[in-house]
Amino acid sequence: MTVLVYLEHADGAVDEPSLQAVTLARSLARAASVQAVSACGDSTQAPADGLGGHGVDVLHAAMHDAFATYAPRAIAETIAELAGRLGAAAVIGPGTERGNEVLAHVAALLDLPLAANCVSASGAEVTRIRWGGSLLEEARVDASPLLLTVQPHALAAQVGAQGTATVESFTPSLSEAALALRVVERAAAATGGVSLADAKVVVSGGRGAGSAEGFGPIEELAGLLDAAVGCSRAVTMAGWRPHTDQVGQTGTKIAPEIYIACGISGATQHMAGCKGAKRILAINADRDAPILQSADYAVIGDMHDVVPAISAALRAARP
Ligand SMILES: Cc1cc2nc3c(=O)[nH]c(=O)nc-3n(C[C@H](O)[C@H](O)[C@H](O)COP(=O)(O)OP(=O)(O)OC[C@H]3O[C@@H](n4cnc5c(N)ncnc54)[C@H](O)[C@@H]3O)c2cc1C
Repeated sequence: MTVLVYLEHADGAVDEPSLQAVTLARSLARAASVQAVSACGDSTQAPADGLGGHGVDVLHAAMHDAFATYAPRAIAETIAELAGRLGAAAVIGPGTERGNEVLAHVAALLDLPLAANCVSASGAEVTRIRWGGSLLEEARVDASPLLLTVQPHALAAQVGAQGTATVESFTPSLSEAALALRVVERAAAATGGVSLADAKVVVSGGRGAGSAEGFGPIEELAGLLDAAVGCSRAVTMAGWRPHTDQVGQTGTKIAPEIYIACGISGATQHMAGCKGAKRILAINADRDAPILQSADYAVIGDMHDVVPAISAALRAARP
């Protein structure tokens, strides 16, 4: 039996959610082979380093000019072709926005169901997160291959396996339709260079910020802490911040060392995106706000006073 894992990577390194997907694949495969596939614009991009330690036997590096940029349908055709060639019993991807998109394309191509955001799998039985994290669903998926994605940060990526991953390069045959769907231009994120998904510290604002301008002190604090700026959906709906900043069920899922939530009530759909945070500091005017039930620390007060005061204290404490 072979379990095939789709790896997302940047600058030659595999992303953490993909390594978490490998860990789930190992538990599903037991003694059988875990193989991986990555889409590479050229051979220098094959992210083989350290994969053996995670338990990957073979890395299939799919080489095509289309992979110089993100091309979800092309990646999906590649995965479907390879899964067929290997006779894979399961195909697993990271439950990131892109991972879910690619695996959804694979499911459409193979006319099979996709179980998204799983936290465990055994045989055909999967447990997955539903309703923004308020429900764990146990389901049986009768499909071959089994297609699933792994909820980011629901389990830790494990190392400790012996061996080195063999790299096998191949060129997939892609349809014209596959090449039509690709990223043609990138706009710089408004997070000052710190990626929201990977940031160690996130300072986030909600409706309590009051306006787009109300994010000035939040950006200032984030700058002092080398943090990314996040926000709630109330904020993106109001047009104060772009959707790329949104934390939550329909935004980015984050796992920082500390999450500083300013003027955010803590709706279930928001908490679904930040419950991977190791610590939460809530700054809220309402001592009964739901977020206080999840917060490790809280400051009850007006964020327009509290946030600048923290920045001033940080500046004063620095040489
Ligand atoms: C299908 C679905 C998906 C969703 N996905 C998401 C998602 O991905 N992310 C998300 O965030 N939401 C999501 N939502 C919306 C979610 O239900 C909430 O409506 C939203 O999170 C509320 O945003 P908020 O906390 O900023 O605003 P509110 O709920 O209005 O809370 C504002 C908070 O600010 C406090 N406050 C006000 N003024 C101040 C001040 N001056 N100083 C300090 N505190 C102050 C208030 O006490 C309050 O607690 C989704 C909803 C649905 C139905």
